[in-house]
Amino acid sequence: MKPVLFLSVLFAALLSFQSPVAAQPSHSPVPGGVAVIALPANTKSAQFLGNPVLITGDSANPLAIVGIAMDQVPGPAQLDLVSGTITFDVLEKSYLTERLTIPDNNKVTPPARDYDRIGRDRQEMMAVFESFTLDRSIDATTLAFITPVQGRISSPFGKRRILNDQPRSPHSGLDIAAPEGTPIKAAAGGIVRATGDYFFNGNTVLIDHGQGLITMYCHLSKIEAALNATVEQGEVIGLVGQTGRVTGPHLHFSVNLNQARVDPALFIAQP
Ligand SMILES: [Zn+2]
Repeated sequence: MKPVLFLSVLFAALLSFQSPVAAQPSHSPVPGGVAVIALPANTKSAQFLGNPVLITGDSANPLAIVGIAMDQVPGPAQLDLVSGTITFDVLEKSYLTERLTIPDNNKVTPPARDYDRIGRDRQEMMAVFESFTLDRSIDATTLAFITPVQGRISSPFGKRRILNDQPRSPHSGLDIAAPEGTPIKAAAGGIVRATGDYFFNGNTVLIDHGQGLITMYCHLSKIEAALNATVEQGEVIGLVGQTGRVTGPHLHFSVNLNQARVDPALFIAQP
């Protein structure tokens, strides 16, 4: 190998090594994943299943970052633009199944007296998930999350769960086990849209990063973020706990994109 060529290869390798921060999540068009789709120049908006999707990149090379829900049927799917449609393929992905025993059976099959509260919690969270705000610009740092807590992944995204022998919907987030009281950091900058003590999720914070990208942090022992506050990436928003439906202290971290819950690991660029 000629020295110049060798150096340029080495330089390229060093560059890629020193820049582990992805500009956006990698294309992973599976249920629970994201599709990264190049759009015609100057495309300002696009919809998937009737929901507006996140668009990033410069106006000459815009990219749609499309969340794909777990219940999406593999096969052709369609992104709707003002000027037409773009078809892409959703591929199959199989997720593991796990069985869990929750000592408090009321948290598995809640008693009727808790239905009102559960309904209210759900409405409050859904209102945030359904929002699509344009008041924050989405840049590479918005889409390159940091991990909110250092710790062991105690349950990956997408696992099918059987709680006390009853099948439940697939795991909608990533569980990171950490001692109670461990600080939790905002994965990216955004605006705190909801804080509350929810039946299943315990003490919870929802952060809106813009354009339908919302992260949720659950089971906190303490919330340290004020409603409507602007937070920077890495800012502490609460402490790890075991409030709500849990088997031990951990953070349940979920990522909502165009109303689909997608695998948070796809967004975490740095450990
Ligand atoms: Zn979880």
